[in-house]
Amino acid sequence: MPKFKTIDDLDPRGKTVLLRADLNVPMEDGKVGDMTRIERTVPTVRELVGKGAKVVVLSHFGRPKGKREPGMSLKPVADALAAVLGTPVAFGDDCVGPDAEKTVRGLSEGGVALLENLRYHAEEEKNDRAFAEKLAALGDVFVNDAFSAAHRAHASTEALAQLLPAYAGRLMQEELEALGRALEHPERPVMAIVGGAKVSTKIDLLQNLLAKVDLLVIGGGMANTFLHAMGTDIGKSLCEKDLADTARGIIDAAKARGCEIVLPVDAAVASEFKAGAASTIVPIGEVPADRMILDVGPASIEDLKKRLAGVRTLVWNGPLGAFEIEPFDKGTNAVAQAAADLTEAGKLVTVAGGGDTVAALARAGVEERFTYVSTAGGAFLEWLEGKTLPGVAALEKAA
Ligand code: AMP
Repeated sequence: MPKFKTIDDLDPRGKTVLLRADLNVPMEDGKVGDMTRIERTVPTVRELVGKGAKVVVLSHFGRPKGKREPGMSLKPVADALAAVLGTPVAFGDDCVGPDAEKTVRGLSEGGVALLENLRYHAEEEKNDRAFAEKLAALGDVFVNDAFSAAHRAHASTEALAQLLPAYAGRLMQEELEALGRALEHPERPVMAIVGGAKVSTKIDLLQNLLAKVDLLVIGGGMANTFLHAMGTDIGKSLCEKDLADTARGIIDAAKARGCEIVLPVDAAVASEFKAGAASTIVPIGEVPADRMILDVGPASIEDLKKRLAGVRTLVWNGPLGAFEIEPFDKGTNAVAQAAADLTEAGKLVTVAGGGDTVAALARAGVEERFTYVSTAGGAFLEWLEGKTLPGVAALEKAA
């Protein structure tokens, strides 16, 4: 079980809560282009405000590299946050110092403020203690709701948790509980699907997973490297031939741990990576020299569906094929839908995330039907790699 404190352990009435959120949202023409990150942290803000706290939201935005970059101001985000909350949000022109202090002083009980971009100060990314002390001076307690920034040891994610009583916000809590159900204390058997383009970006991830799961399904371009390593001809498919030894090492390590590696048995192949490219289905082992594998084939889909029906937990990162172009999204869509059906039937816990996975699952129409789809990107991947996330470790240390 999670070893951190949550808002359930906090009586925030009359307190000023410093809430670290990830409001690093996409901007279009100076306006917030996608509200998802704001909407996901709003329940924590509402709950704290509802319990009588003053809430001071802290966030980074872009990479201003320690300088005030007008194009990276959080000001437009304050307006968007106010619109989602339905209450005014005061904006502090700096996250520390007189402007920040004045903004915080001006808040009444139940009031919300957003302070300017933390990364306007180089000390933030340096995890600088003196800077964290300036932040800490603005509030009574610290609530971290930014799982997606937890893989960075920054002043607002790490040092600050050591200076004030520290709690996980509801979004952080939800994410950590979902991850716990997926790998730390999962119902077995556990299956992982790892797809995407390249083995080279996922070596640590594969090594961590093979020690934790019962079935490791390898799809996407990276399956080609494994097939090649096993002596199978894969035509002109994307392949990292120099990683053949690494792939064989992963296969051997999996065997030693009792983890079964599952590779495609057939594939959709085409002569080029292009929308609408004429595709045919061939068994693995019969890929013509002038064709490339762009998706798993129907027999592989059936095999994965059958295997899914026999497991209790699924962890998924990376598409099974070149999902951005039809018809090579078929494998990802079909397996995602089967997993969503099993989830809805209460037979499977499904946790997915990282890189293109969110887009692939959204395209398959299952984003809302999985147990949990993490939008945390890099933090989710580092967690899948088995790394300690400094922002999470700091909350655990504070508990
Ligand atoms: P990643 O960011 O590592 O999850 O990789 C996602 C990318 O892998 C997507 O852009 C897919 O188009 C690509 N991909 C998946 N399968 C294949 C394949 N068989 N050949 C080439 N690219 C692929």
